[in-house]
Amino acid sequence: MSSDPDCIFCKIVSGDIPSFRILEDELTIAFMDINPANAGHALVIPRQHAEDLYSIDAECLSAVARSAQRVARAVERTVGPQGLNLVQCNGDAAGQSVYHFHMHVLPRAVGDELKMNWSIRPGDMKAIGELAERIKANVDA
Ligand code: AMP
Ligand code: ZN
Repeated sequence: MSSDPDCIFCKIVSGDIPSFRILEDELTIAFMDINPANAGHALVIPRQHAEDLYSIDAECLSAVARSAQRVARAVERTVGPQGLNLVQCNGDAAGQSVYHFHMHVLPRAVGDELKMNWSIRPGDMKAIGELAERIKANVDA
């Protein structure tokens, strides 16, 4: 499985960097975004390193889509957002800051005024960790 020693998300896959994990399967992992745009903001990534949509292989892409649906259902049960976006960015102009393919599972509320390229604000780690446990408990087998 390919990995990039300089990639922060590869370090999350290997466990060298901690994360609030909510789902793991053979090809993917999902964890909480530590700068949540809204409560329950999570990321789904392939275990295998691929920079973006152009380079990810089809099997990993399909696996990320399946996991994103499972995470979205768990977030919906846990947070009960009014809406939810899947967001995936490719390139600086599109707002990509981490070059390991990832899908944002992004709960939405009427009037939250989120823009496509939202600004990053550090979250409350205790609150994120607690929410991760609750979402994890709601992930279907
Ligand atoms: P993007 O701008 O689409 O590349 O999104 C990258 C996301 O990764 C941002 O929302 C960051 O808050 C998030 N992020 C960066 N480092 C970490 C980390 N160590 N753990 C969790 N989320 C992270
Ligand atoms: Zn990587």
